[in-house]
Amino acid sequence: MAKACKTCHRIVDEGNQCPNCKTHNFSKDYSGEVHIINPEQSAIAKKLNIKKPGTYALRVR
Ligand SMILES: [Zn+2]
Repeated sequence: MAKACKTCHRIVDEGNQCPNCKTHNFSKDYSGEVHIINPEQSAIAKKLNIKKPGTYALRVR
C-alpha cells in the first residue's frame, strides 16, 4: 500500500525508506497526488519545496 513521507511528501509504493530524504517516517493518511516531472519549472514543486522528480502527496497528516 502506498504511503507518503512525512518529511518531503514523496509517495512511496515499496520499501520502508524514502528515496529522497532517507527517513522512515511515513503516513498512510495523505490526500492529493501530484506528479512532478520538472521541479525547477513547477509552481507546485516550489510551493511544496520539492527538489526531485517523482510523485508527491499534497497533504500528509
Ligand atoms: Zn522523504
